[in-house]
Amino acid sequence: MEATNPLLDAAAIGDLVLLDPLSEDSLLRTLRERFQRGDIYTYIGNVLISVNPYQPLPIYSPEKVQEYHNCNFFAVKPHIYAIADDAYRSLRDRDRDQCILITGESGAGKTEASKLVMSYVAAVSSKGEEVDKVKEQLLQSNPVLEAFGNAKTIRNDNSSRFGKYMDVEFDFKGEPLGGVINNYLLEKSRIVRHVRGERNFHIFYQLLAGGSVQLLRRSQPHSTGSKRGSMGGYAARVCPQDAMRVIGFSPTEVTELLEVTAVVLKLGNVELSSSYQASGMEACSITEPQGRAGDGTGGYYGRDALAKNIYSRLFDWLVTRINTSIQVKPGKQRKVMGVLDIYGFEIFQDNGFEQFIINYCNEKLQQIFILLTLKEEQEEYVREGIQWTPVEFFDNSIICNLIENSKSGILAMLDEECLRPGVVNEDTFLTKLNLLFATHKHYESKETQNARRVMDTSLPPQCFRIHHYAGKVTYNVTGFIEKNNDLLFRDLSQAMWAARHPLLRSLFPEGDPQKASLKLPPTAGSQFKASVAMLMKNLYSKNPNYIRCIKPNETKAAMLFTPELVLAQARYLGLMENVRVRRAGYAFRQLYGSFLERYKVLGSRTWPRAEALLEELAFPPEELAFGHTKIFIRSPRTLFDLERRRQE
Ligand code: ATP
Ligand code: MG
Repeated sequence: MEATNPLLDAAAIGDLVLLDPLSEDSLLRTLRERFQRGDIYTYIGNVLISVNPYQPLPIYSPEKVQEYHNCNFFAVKPHIYAIADDAYRSLRDRDRDQCILITGESGAGKTEASKLVMSYVAAVSSKGEEVDKVKEQLLQSNPVLEAFGNAKTIRNDNSSRFGKYMDVEFDFKGEPLGGVINNYLLEKSRIVRHVRGERNFHIFYQLLAGGSVQLLRRSQPHSTGSKRGSMGGYAARVCPQDAMRVIGFSPTEVTELLEVTAVVLKLGNVELSSSYQASGMEACSITEPQGRAGDGTGGYYGRDALAKNIYSRLFDWLVTRINTSIQVKPGKQRKVMGVLDIYGFEIFQDNGFEQFIINYCNEKLQQIFILLTLKEEQEEYVREGIQWTPVEFFDNSIICNLIENSKSGILAMLDEECLRPGVVNEDTFLTKLNLLFATHKHYESKETQNARRVMDTSLPPQCFRIHHYAGKVTYNVTGFIEKNNDLLFRDLSQAMWAARHPLLRSLFPEGDPQKASLKLPPTAGSQFKASVAMLMKNLYSKNPNYIRCIKPNETKAAMLFTPELVLAQARYLGLMENVRVRRAGYAFRQLYGSFLERYKVLGSRTWPRAEALLEELAFPPEELAFGHTKIFIRSPRTLFDLERRRQE
């Protein structure tokens, strides 16, 4: 590790744990100076910060892979390969399941990072016909999922509109056996509407460009008008059909998948008239939905809900289908590396149900980060036989609880409102929250502000505000009930089930009148809460590795660093808190051998051990601790002192 005195060269600090003094200012300055000289990676302990360079860098070559393969973590520059290597070796040699958690805002480089990790592991694990096939299948799942789950947005030309967690499973020798993918919260509203300048999911353009022509007769993607022929960029580069073949989809499966995609495309194209018959729908053998779907606004509601439902169920089917191909046969002994690529904290001008759900997930990830980091620290101290004194840090369980408590959390209250008979609206929901959380430290609304005599014109009446660990976010309750209910008219499910198309009907099992139940399906919020809980349980059982991605500017410009923007993200990502937690005990630790190697010049008495050397240098005793294999130094200042003396 390069641990130069920051006063001499801020950019030389490869690890922010060593910042002295630690302030937002010094943190920002270090990231900027490093970025400007092409060092996009910086550590906080074993957390990696990655600042998107928005240009190809020559640091991902096969030679680089070799350089980092089996490297000494401290002897090479910070790099995503170093993290991947460390995780892989720990999994292979020390039998510890790993997870790699990648967070950051849209366009920050999460998906690219997840691919770099996967390709690194594929490159350094062993070769052979069988293993190579597995690797290829795992890698090819990316283009397929990206075709169906990614879209061009204002922030990112290839924005993932779903969260993804993938477990890659290895045998005892460290050879990949297969994997399991979990997907979270596809942004299905994009099917029916998106912002000007954005696009629908890539697959629609790929369909039109590559086109099974007979499937697509007389149809165009909703609200993108005459884009036919101007695919460019992403859509032109990738052929998901080839990837599907590699994964093991049969030709029939591919055809059916594309047919159902075309149905969604056509639904988006439907002009509502007195009847609900869509042009060209016959081609895909859809029976005509009847009843409530046909009248006025209900018709649009029904059509939109149907299109969104078909597509999101199709996406789930796709994930399940990929899993069928890549799953490992039960009974095999395996080690696991999980990779999580999920949307970071969102604070927009207008925040709705989606932001609420996403930020809840990030609050949980922060909680597990603190738990795991402290757990890991604690374990290391025990291993090394060092006294551990707990240090104060911000515990965000109070915020998690505010949202997820099964009796009185915000999600539970929302579910209660959704189930209540009679007129249900967001006003009653908000009133309920105001009553329950009148004195909650992390909850605010116009009403609670009035009661507390807070003057604040920035909070509109139909909103509530949560003080998240990453900042305050104001949520507008409009749409919460509808989005949480996420209901599809029963007759639409029945119509889909009655369709002659085998894949389409299989997506709507509840449409089978024989199996119809009066029970309401679980709400979107409760489903998400359950899947987050599963994810947390899974992550908690593994050794965590963090990659925090940062977007340096709003214009996708190469090497441009906008300090205000980075500072805002440093706050959402909790980087300062991150450094503090990492420093909770000892800022720096190193194996005795490497330590002596570096500092033996400082003393006459390096024999027998580091103790002798440090005794001679007369540091305060509380600054140092001698573990079984490592030396621990409490504050960066002491380390800099060592470095300064060494340079002299
Ligand atoms: P979203 O949340 O919208 O999915 P994301 O965090 O996954 O965003 P990416 O799609 O990974 O963002 O990255 C956006 C773009 O930034 C990439 O298409 C690529 O052009 C560029 N980029 C990201 N990481 C790197 C990198 N390490 N080197 C070069 N370019 C990069
Ligand atoms: Mg992405």
